Amino acid sequence: MIKGHCLCGACTFETDAAPRGPSMCHCGQCRRQSGGIWSSAYVARAALRISGPVKWFASSENARRGFCPECGSFLFWEALDEDTCSFALGAISNPTGLRLEKHIFTGDKGDYYDIADGLPQKE
Ligand SMILES: [Zn+2]
Repeated sequence: MIKGHCLCGACTFETDAAPRGPSMCHCGQCRRQSGGIWSSAYVARAALRISGPVKWFASSENARRGFCPECGSFLFWEALDEDTCSFALGAISNPTGLRLEKHIFTGDKGDYYDIADGLPQKE
């Protein structure tokens, strides 16, 4: 069981499904919304129970981003034409039981840090 919550606790989520694709996203949208790198994994949308006043921001025609309107925590990302939902690894209570698999959109990453963990990087 994975359980997570936003900074203030108003928004929570949980799933019994095994999270897939733990990754760190360095894209410009995640940089700005999270303040840095956004770490996430995903499960089937139907397997993710979300509660609280999550606000969804349409970041493009194809995707939306869910955050807590009280404390601003960026918790969810989902593509509108897919049936999965990504959730913030940073919001999960330990132990997560997960290991990062890769870095994505590294071509957009900030120039103020290097990625040195040896994991695969996708531009
Ligand atoms: Zn909150």
